[in-house]
Amino acid sequence: MVQTYLPEIDRILCTGCGECVEACHPRALALVEGKAVLARPDLCEYEGGCEPACPVGAITLPYFILFATTNPTDGVGLRGAGLRDPLADG
Ligand code: SF4
Repeated sequence: MVQTYLPEIDRILCTGCGECVEACHPRALALVEGKAVLARPDLCEYEGGCEPACPVGAITLPYFILFATTNPTDGVGLRGAGLRDPLADG
């Protein structure tokens, strides 16, 4: 399944160390000509391991978060929505 959001790699910052490739369990990332690339976006499961694995901050995982105290349609409180809930991390 291809995700709507995919990791973004800054090729200028990337040193080609391969840490993100090792951290990517679905094997969506690869090194090509000394730089990390999202070689198989169809395999990306958005696990989130690549971003913290990069020692130079070359990978960004975009996602959106919606915060609301009350859902105006049914009154149910919402904490957030998106691909990753930062309040649940850690
Ligand atoms: S961990 Fe960062 S610097 Fe290393 S290959 Fe991946 S993107 Fe490049």
